[in-house]
Amino acid sequence: MKFSKFAQQFKPESGILQLMNDLDHAVNSGRPFHMLGGGNPAHIPEIEKLIQTEMLDVCNDMGRFTSMIGDYDGPQGNIAFIDALVDLFNEKYGWPITRNHIAITNGSQASFGMIFNLLAGEFKDGSRRQILLPITPEYIGYSDVGLGEESIFQARKPVIEIIEKQNAGFYKYHIDFENLNLDDSIGAVCVSRPTNPTGNVISDAELSQLSDLTKKAGCPLIIDGAYGLPFPGIIFNEATPHWDEHVILCLSLSKFGLPGVRTGIVIANPELINLLSGSNAIFSLAPGRIGPTVVTELVRSGEILEISRKVIKPYYRKRVDHAVAIVKDKMQDLPVRIHQPEGAIFLWLWFEGLPISSEELYQRLKKRGVLVIAGEHFFPGMEEPWRHKQECIRITYASHLESVEAGIQIIADEVRKAYEASSDFL
Ligand code: PLP
Repeated sequence: MKFSKFAQQFKPESGILQLMNDLDHAVNSGRPFHMLGGGNPAHIPEIEKLIQTEMLDVCNDMGRFTSMIGDYDGPQGNIAFIDALVDLFNEKYGWPITRNHIAITNGSQASFGMIFNLLAGEFKDGSRRQILLPITPEYIGYSDVGLGEESIFQARKPVIEIIEKQNAGFYKYHIDFENLNLDDSIGAVCVSRPTNPTGNVISDAELSQLSDLTKKAGCPLIIDGAYGLPFPGIIFNEATPHWDEHVILCLSLSKFGLPGVRTGIVIANPELINLLSGSNAIFSLAPGRIGPTVVTELVRSGEILEISRKVIKPYYRKRVDHAVAIVKDKMQDLPVRIHQPEGAIFLWLWFEGLPISSEELYQRLKKRGVLVIAGEHFFPGMEEPWRHKQECIRITYASHLESVEAGIQIIADEVRKAYEASSDFL
C-alpha cells in the first residue's frame, strides 16, 4: 500500500504510540508487570459505585436510555450536559459563559489535536505560528498532534528551585517569565495544570501573570485541566479555577474515573467553539453521548465538585504520600530529587548526573518487569540539548499499591547499578 504524507503522522516511533503499545503488550503478555507507566486513573471503588448507580438510573428510564444509545447529539455535544456545566461554572465561579462557550469532544486528547492545529501551523498570509509551552517538561500526548511537517511547538526551560537539598528531597519548576518572548510567532500558549508528568501546579499568581501577558499580547491561553479544576480536582495545594475570554479551558471526564467513555469538555469563546463543532461533525458526526448522559445529574446538583473534593482528592493525597515515603526510603543513598507533587497522579524523579539515558533506564526496567516513562519524551518542542531531559523518569502512583512498592524497589536497584558502574559515582 502507498500512504500519503498525512500517514507519516502515525509513525510507530511516536512517543504516545510507543506508550500505549507498551501498556497494551504488558497487559496482554501474561507476564507480571509493575505498571508505573500509563496515565490510567485509579479504580476508586466509591467512584465506580457512584457511576454504576447513575448509569442504572439512566438505564431504568427508557426515555433517557433510548436517546443515549439511539440518537446522535448535535456536533457541539449534548445540550443538557452543556447547560448544566454553564449553570455550575457561572454560579460557583461567577464566569460569564453561555451555552455557546462549550463544546464536547471525544476526550481531551481529541480537543488538543484539533485546537493546536486551529491555532498553529501555516496561516493564509503565509506566516507560521506555533504553540508555546512556557514550562517544560510537558504532557507527552501533545508531541505528535501537529499536522504539518514542522514542529508546531516552541518550548521554554523552567527555573529550577531546590526545596530540600538532601537525597530524595523535593524540587520545583517555575515559569521563566524573563525568557517567555511572546512574539508574533506564537499562536497560543498552553500549560497543563496540574502538569503531567511533574505533578507541578502553576500557582494562582503565576497563572494570573501568564493570563495577563497573553491577554495583552492578543494570544489565546490554553489551560489543560485534565487532572485539575473545577473537576476532578486532583490538586493538593491551594489553587483556583481560571477562565477569561482569551482562555481555552480543556477538561475531561477521564481522571474523574471515566477514561473509557471518552468525554472532553472545551470552554472557550464561541468562535473557537463553532470550529470545534465543525470538526466534530466532519470527523465524527457527533461526540459520544454516554459520558454526558451519565454525568449530567452530578453536574446539575454540583455533586461532581463535592465528590472531587471529598473522595478523589483525598484518595490521591494518600497515594502520593505513600509513594513519596517509599522513594525516600528506597533511594536515600541515591542522588535523586522528587518534583514536589502538588497534583495529578505522577512522581517525577530526577537522577542528577545519571550515567545512562532515561530511555536506556526505561529499557532496563522493562526487562525487569517495570514500566515507567523515560523523561526525554516530555519535552515537545525543545530541540536544544539539555542533559536534564535524559535524567528524569515519570512513574504513576495510581497503580496497585504492591506494584508501586515493588516497582520503586526495582527502579532503585537499577539506578544504583547504573551509578555504581560509572567511575564518577562516589
Ligand atoms: N491532558 C493531560 C495532561 C493528560 O495527562 C491526558 C491523559 O492522560 C489528557 C490530556 C488526555 O486525556 P483524555 O483524552 O482521556 O481526556
